[in-house]
Amino acid sequence: MAKKQFKTESKKLLDMMINSIYTHKEIFLRELISNASDAIDKLYFRSLTDGSIGLSRGDYEIRITPDKEARTLEIRDNGCGMTKEELENNLGTIAKSGSFDFKNEGTQSEGESNIDIIGQFGVGFYSAFMVSDMITVVSRAYGAEEAYKWESSGVDGYTIEKTEYDSFGTLVRIHLREDTEDEKYSEFLEEYRIRSLVGKYSDYIRYPIRMEVTKSRRKEGSPDDKPEYEDYREDETLNRMIPLWKKNRSEVTDEEYAEFYKEKFRDYEEPLRVIRQKTEGVSDYIALLFIPANAPYNYYSRDYEKGLQLYSSGVLIMDKCKELLPDYFSFVRGLVDSADLSLNISREMLQHDRQLKSIAKALENKIHDELTNMLENDRDKYKTFFKAFGTQLKYGLYADYGMNREVLKDLVMFESSASEEPTTLKEYVSRMPEGQKKIYYAAGESREQTALLPQVEAVTKKGYEVLYLLEDVDEFALMMLHEYDGKEFANVTADELDISSDEDKESLKLENEKSKDMFDFMKESIGGDVSAVRFTNTLSNHPVCISSEGAVSASMEKTLGRMPGAEQSIKAEKVLEINMEHPIASKLKMLFIEDKEKLAVFSKILYANARLISGLNIENPAEIGELVTNLML
Ligand code: ADP
Repeated sequence: MAKKQFKTESKKLLDMMINSIYTHKEIFLRELISNASDAIDKLYFRSLTDGSIGLSRGDYEIRITPDKEARTLEIRDNGCGMTKEELENNLGTIAKSGSFDFKNEGTQSEGESNIDIIGQFGVGFYSAFMVSDMITVVSRAYGAEEAYKWESSGVDGYTIEKTEYDSFGTLVRIHLREDTEDEKYSEFLEEYRIRSLVGKYSDYIRYPIRMEVTKSRRKEGSPDDKPEYEDYREDETLNRMIPLWKKNRSEVTDEEYAEFYKEKFRDYEEPLRVIRQKTEGVSDYIALLFIPANAPYNYYSRDYEKGLQLYSSGVLIMDKCKELLPDYFSFVRGLVDSADLSLNISREMLQHDRQLKSIAKALENKIHDELTNMLENDRDKYKTFFKAFGTQLKYGLYADYGMNREVLKDLVMFESSASEEPTTLKEYVSRMPEGQKKIYYAAGESREQTALLPQVEAVTKKGYEVLYLLEDVDEFALMMLHEYDGKEFANVTADELDISSDEDKESLKLENEKSKDMFDFMKESIGGDVSAVRFTNTLSNHPVCISSEGAVSASMEKTLGRMPGAEQSIKAEKVLEINMEHPIASKLKMLFIEDKEKLAVFSKILYANARLISGLNIENPAEIGELVTNLML
């Protein structure tokens, strides 16, 4: 019989399938099953208006039959079937759905992008050629008298001939390729493999997918102490059909959701929160989202891939659709099922899909509301959540020039001097006493160390609360926020604090002017490291402290210095501040008159002292050590 040729485009696609090095060839089964399901859908919908089709929902099935001897796998459906013309048009030409764009394909045979397309969307019927060297399709359209057989072993074309087929619907029989070193195609004939593939990709197909399987049972009458077993064959339905997310919230228990989550997203812990959203109208979709209780081990690394599973009417089309989640909510797991999305939508189309964008926006709002609700009504859970993912929210504040600060500013928490409990900015502001104008913060390595900073002690003594920024990202996040509720942030070790009275400020200014020469001398003695030396009146007990001037604080300098590629680290402008009321102040003034040499030594030691108190390293420990020892002698 004369072979018919495939259309040019189909040929290219076919070629790509046959030579595919794509590793997830298993998706072919999903594609064939979803074609079968579509065909049943068509007949089912027709039956709703055509009373002569005497079939009810329960009559439909998709049947899988592996045959190890013949090395074939059959997928059979009792759907609408195809006429001769349809066989010709549908299988001789690739889907016209626009899933494929060959414009840029040129002569490249197996590019990265092709693999991506196969993986993310499958390419329908032809994907069977990834595992098969011969495909036979027998089909009889519903209501037609004749059946036809379509057959092809690849690019050299296909044949169509009349055949006998005792029922309507379609049977696709694929002959599996020979096994190779790398590819064990015969695995697709194993019951366990078929079962798991259906579970993975086609669990929620609305019609039963059945397979006759071998089971084992105890032989009737075999003695209890010596039981004997026998194999028997039985039909098994491999799919669960109704997806959990399609059920109303009230029909599903918390345990069921938790089990579903743990199994599907491979977490050992129950989710902190389950979010279900169902909308109809402009975009028609159901989302089932989970907020995990712990961060995956690779969460804060480049390996972590965000995204939600994307289903089109129960058929998985994408495992991690990243377009559905903003980065700062990348911890959310879950899925979206939309009836409006085509199975064969391409990645590019997806990126620009307006509907997908509007779903993503709606989900973002929903997640935000749920987190806010958790924060307000279930603080313990929120703390667990924040421990795992708070850093990500803070990165979110900082990222994109603070573009998302409105969404995130009320979700972040910081440690504070007020209590051991982390606080939100809103709570901080609600505690501000009258007269406090700014939101104070200090950066440090730990609660203890930060609480002991001289400036922190000074500010808390005034009755003001200080936020402890213990994570690298904290200070950057606050900088992006600029202010909260109209109140500026003030770094107690860097900024003008506004905590002393006008007279105090005036007398300090005078003192500083009077000692200008001494400060210049001290600055000179310390070396290039400090940009100024001056008195302060805000320290209570401590003799000295380091503060900084300009845009980069001392703690930011530390953070920036740790970043990769920071050889020329950005320096904070450091100021050595001396407690005006401390006895050391008058001692220094005396030395400036009587013993400049000693003042030089004192300056160096005081500066080292201040650095240590502020949690900074000293760069010349040997020199300082020697100076201190000499003083003792
Ligand atoms: P797609 O499913 O995206 O349209 P395919 O290449 O998988 O692309 O299939 C091409 C066409 O062949 C389908 O649109 C459908 O009309 C027809 N077809 C495939 N499988 C079946 C089947 N089991 N029963 C009836 N028609 C089918």
